[in-house]
Amino acid sequence: MQEKNYSDKLEELETRLSHQQEINRFTLDALELAASLIDFQPRISTLESPSLILDEICNRISRLIDFKAMGIYLVDEQDNDFYPAYLTPAKYHDFLDQETRRLIDQYFFPWAMREKRPVMLAASDKDNSLVLHVLSTNTRTRGMFVGLIGSEAYAVPDVSWGLLTILLSSSANALESYELYKLFRESNINLKKIVQERTRELENQASYDRLTLLPNRDMVFKSLEKQIRWCLNTNEACQAAFILMDLDMFKEVNESLGHKAGDRLLVQTGKRLQELTGEGSTLGRVGGDEFAMVVTGTCVKDDAVKMAGRMIQAMTRPFELQGQSLLLDVSIGIAIFPEHGKNLGQILSRADMAMYAAKRMKTGYAVYDPKFESSGINRLNLMSELKKGLDKDQMTLYFQPKIDLASKKVCGLEALIRWHHPTRGFIPPGDFIPLAEQGGLIRELSSRVIRMSTRQIRHWMALGINIPVSINLSVRDIQDNKLPDQIASAIEEYNLAPSSLELEITESAFMTAPNKGLRTLNKLNDMGIPMSIDDFGTGHSSMAYLRDLPVKILKIDRSFVMDMDKNDNNRKIVKSIIDLGHNLDLKVVAEGVENQKSLEMLENLGCDLAQGFFILKPLPSEELTDWLQKTTDLQKL
Ligand code: C2E
Ligand code: MG
Ligand code: MG
Repeated sequence: MQEKNYSDKLEELETRLSHQQEINRFTLDALELAASLIDFQPRISTLESPSLILDEICNRISRLIDFKAMGIYLVDEQDNDFYPAYLTPAKYHDFLDQETRRLIDQYFFPWAMREKRPVMLAASDKDNSLVLHVLSTNTRTRGMFVGLIGSEAYAVPDVSWGLLTILLSSSANALESYELYKLFRESNINLKKIVQERTRELENQASYDRLTLLPNRDMVFKSLEKQIRWCLNTNEACQAAFILMDLDMFKEVNESLGHKAGDRLLVQTGKRLQELTGEGSTLGRVGGDEFAMVVTGTCVKDDAVKMAGRMIQAMTRPFELQGQSLLLDVSIGIAIFPEHGKNLGQILSRADMAMYAAKRMKTGYAVYDPKFESSGINRLNLMSELKKGLDKDQMTLYFQPKIDLASKKVCGLEALIRWHHPTRGFIPPGDFIPLAEQGGLIRELSSRVIRMSTRQIRHWMALGINIPVSINLSVRDIQDNKLPDQIASAIEEYNLAPSSLELEITESAFMTAPNKGLRTLNKLNDMGIPMSIDDFGTGHSSMAYLRDLPVKILKIDRSFVMDMDKNDNNRKIVKSIIDLGHNLDLKVVAEGVENQKSLEMLENLGCDLAQGFFILKPLPSEELTDWLQKTTDLQKL
């Protein structure tokens, strides 16, 4: 009895133990499975493609439950339908998909979605079951898990089904965060692209001129600096040339034809220059109407001079702007590294000086020469001092007589402005008139010249000297439609006859602003003021302008007259201009008569008037008054 009791007890204990062991095994399995889920979320978040995520989901599920086949159907955002995103293994693809379609058609999916736990349904083959489980997060349904399982489904412990729910909900979260991540990444990529494009744009803006699309000032300077550094580091024979080109009278074009026309002119100029650039040279726009080229090599001076010639040549073709044909001169300055400067700053400022010298000397181009320094020309300083000079009345007028070659009588005086700078001393008009033109001060300057001249005419009249005075006008003056009224009031103020004043205008002034300028000139002509073309032969002479302009006098440029006694070509040019003027019923003045022989030649050629140092250098008004009063007999000349 006792024995039986013991054996029963032992059996009971054994049963309880095995039961406990089974519970322990289940618990251990469950813990193991649960543990396998611990790294699921972090693992999945490192995966970069949805197929890898789905792969990992099914891989983890297969560790929980032994499905024959698995599929993950995701919700298509477009039509809210489910599409197969993942099916495994391949041999069950068709079957699983057909079964899933059937379940969808029979509205089992909405049901499974509501359940939020595994839902088991009989497969159509009766041997298998289909397990549905929604893949949803707190906010959205992302899809459906479909598993194919045989009779073993019934042996799956509850804990595994529970863990399946946990696993699928983390999967849904993983998919959602992947999508968010993808979105974020895409927008990030887009943002990056936008940032890159913008940066590129900004870089372009920082390096290129928007108008001409040529490298801008910064880029050209950097290129020169690079060349200088390269020359310093490589060999001593290496040189770099900086060619600086400025359009003469660009400002006037801009003002008379408008900024759009000015812009087109710059674009066309850029294109013409671009055609000249070769390998190893950098062309750019470095300022309003300034272009520059960096040329490197071993004999860059010759190359740069040749290039300057080609640049000038390229600009000799007229520009067609607003139905008008325009011709513009250019001034080019050249500075060579290392000959003319040891660093970027020196080269730039010396090219600028050379360019300014070319403008002043009207030579087209100039290579830097130390003598440009001694003339004390520093454009920027001078520009600001010019304004002060005008305000402080540092300008005076000198006068130079013109004589009638037939009668040898003084028949006119030319007013020539002089600037006596308090520290720099005398500055010739050729150095500051172009500056005044560029800096917008020329109108103010001309107004003073008009007032000073008319006052002086009145003063001489009071002394019994009745000689007309001619004044020089700039293109900007004749573009200003207020000019005729201004001159009229000056004449009126001193009670002068219009013919006591004469106006000298250069050829290029007409070429730059033909229409506007012509209107002003016609008005002045109607007022009875004689006008002459100054420096004839140096600009872009056009017979049509000579015919159309209301001018009465041609002044032959001094460069032809000065050496006409020695230079036969110049003598021929002078003769041709005299003949041309006479054929057009114009009086001809030869300026720059420096010797007796030239004077006689001019007389023989039938020139009407002469002006020059041989007759008299320009003098201040008091000295000229003395000369006029003393010189009764010019026949002795
Ligand atoms: P321009 O109107 O052709 O004036 C004649 C220039 O030739 C003057 O130079 C005069 O001094 C110079 N000259 C006269 N005879 C001889 C000679 O025999 N040999 C040589 N080598 N030169 C001679 P300046 O006074 O230096 O004036 C230069 C230019 O500056 C003028 O050329 C004119 O275009 C401009 N200018 C002078 N005063 C004014 C002004 O008040 N307003 C404007 N807008 N321009 C002016
Ligand atoms: Mg003149
Ligand atoms: Mg002249």
